[in-house]
Amino acid sequence: MLPSREAVGGTHTPILIVGAGPVGLALAGELGWRGIPCTLIERSDGSIEQPKMDIVGVRTMEFCRRWGIADWVRDAPYPGDYPQDCIYVTGLDGYELGREPFPGRAHEQCPPQSPQKRERVPQDMFDPILQRFVRTFPHVDLRYRTELVDFAETAAGVTATLRGADSGAAHTITADYLVGTDGGASMVRERCAIGMSGNPALTYTTNIVFRCADFDALHDKRKGYRFIFIGPEGTWLTIVASNGRDRYRMSIVGSADKIEHSEADIRAALRRAVGRDFDYEILSVMRWVRRELVADCYGNGSRVFIAGDAAHLMSPTGGFGMNTGIQDAVDLGWKLEAAVRGWAGVQLLDSYGIERRPVAVRNVTEASANLVRMLSTRERRPPPAIFDPGAAGDAARADYGSWFTQTMRQEWFTIGFHLGYRYDDSPIIVPDGSAAPPLETSTYTQTARPGARAPHAWLPDGRSTLDLFGRGFTLLQLGPDAPAGEAICAAAAVAGVPLTMVRLDVPAVTRLYERRLVLARPDGHVAWRADALPDDARGLIDHVRGAR
Ligand SMILES: Cc1cc2nc3c(=O)[nH]c(=O)nc-3n(C[C@H](O)[C@H](O)[C@H](O)COP(=O)(O)OP(=O)(O)OC[C@H]3O[C@@H](n4cnc5c(N)ncnc54)[C@H](O)[C@@H]3O)c2cc1C
Repeated sequence: MLPSREAVGGTHTPILIVGAGPVGLALAGELGWRGIPCTLIERSDGSIEQPKMDIVGVRTMEFCRRWGIADWVRDAPYPGDYPQDCIYVTGLDGYELGREPFPGRAHEQCPPQSPQKRERVPQDMFDPILQRFVRTFPHVDLRYRTELVDFAETAAGVTATLRGADSGAAHTITADYLVGTDGGASMVRERCAIGMSGNPALTYTTNIVFRCADFDALHDKRKGYRFIFIGPEGTWLTIVASNGRDRYRMSIVGSADKIEHSEADIRAALRRAVGRDFDYEILSVMRWVRRELVADCYGNGSRVFIAGDAAHLMSPTGGFGMNTGIQDAVDLGWKLEAAVRGWAGVQLLDSYGIERRPVAVRNVTEASANLVRMLSTRERRPPPAIFDPGAAGDAARADYGSWFTQTMRQEWFTIGFHLGYRYDDSPIIVPDGSAAPPLETSTYTQTARPGARAPHAWLPDGRSTLDLFGRGFTLLQLGPDAPAGEAICAAAAVAGVPLTMVRLDVPAVTRLYERRLVLARPDGHVAWRADALPDDARGLIDHVRGAR
């Protein structure tokens, strides 16, 4: 039974979420959208000193579409016509070595596998969109300047001590479940004694956000999103067009050696990149360590879970970090709803870490591989001729530049990661005996094999198949001779599992899904598929709700 709404704002909440970065906001939004009361606390006031993420991946955009906020992201103020080229240069006053052209986001087409496309929307534009979404739900209690200082699990739930930053006063709140979306230094993870495995320091990097009114006029390389600077020592700097107008983020890439870049180093780097002094204002400096770490488990095996950077830390190369975290939130969201509403089997919440951890390992590994590719110029150093004028220099630049351009492509084309993650080995997925297709990187072949994201296809009425998946399970009956699904529906009703049947006779969809009956989960992944009804419909429902 759902807890009463009076609990909101009070001393009990069904779900306490700690940390309102993009992942905590996404989880609160997902729960709010599901009608589940929850409390989201954030120790800061929500302002973002230095925006980190800026690519909202295609799967995250599919979630935004489900939540009804895809238009809000599309309408974010990053200019739609700002070219998104990645440009490799010896300097802005030097030579262009190569370029990967991308149109402004308004001109990018949706890939055939999705009704959405990725969007360039930096964190100081994206977090407010998620905040606005969260605030549409009166049953979600969003409290800024409120810090988690302690918590303990009891027989009945979790008791947490919170402290208001303004009053300094501590107070207690109880919750049925606690989720730590409290970032890389997660206190929730630490208190649960969850270790992290991997490499704790790939590089010591300094990011500088600066304002420059006419940066594009300082050079002849044309507008682009990302400039990668290659000197005699290899790749040493990147500059990205952070808001598509007057704000840029420079990253002194650094190395595994701990170097603290001073303001003089920063100004020297800017001068070297542009080739001369120019007018700019430094807005913020962030010294950070690039890590390759995944938590050894995603919760304490009971009522406490972690998600987002609390669970995985990766190089930003690839733009996977937040997007992986929002996938965590969506996977956990429907399972928490099931637990709160009382239809979850005992294994359902355990399946969260089982499903999500391998995805993080894959993405973290690829992010590091992308870093190695970006820094491969430090191994294969540029020949001195690429810095020289003349025909010999042109030939050397063409040769080196085309090698680097080709090398970098794997980072720019990543649909196989954003859409192709699967839960093949999950205990709540029913295998259908078909062979697992290979995992792809820059391409993605849609599959309706159990564990995969249910494929997108356009329907005659202009909707996507993804629009058919609601807050509960969806049983697709595909083709003119699909078996009746009433037995599955009845079994779901007995177990209290929300399930809707959708009959479709669209040959392209039947071909894509390959079976006449397909059961999609509340997160849009395929749980089961077959051409005939199962012998034991109750057993099927118990399997997918984690009750066997
Ligand atoms: C330079 C850079 C570029 C990046 N680009 C991309 C990109 O393009 N795409 C992408 O997907 N990812 C990108 N990332 C990664 C992405 O920014 C992170 O993965 C993402 O911010 C993680 O979100 P989160 O909500 O898990 O954690 P955070 O954003 O770290 O949020 C955690 C929040 O928890 C709060 N908190 C911590 N402890 C407590 C407490 N005890 N009580 C209350 N509140 C607490 C913190 O104040 C913080 O607001 C990039 C990262 C960097 C460094």
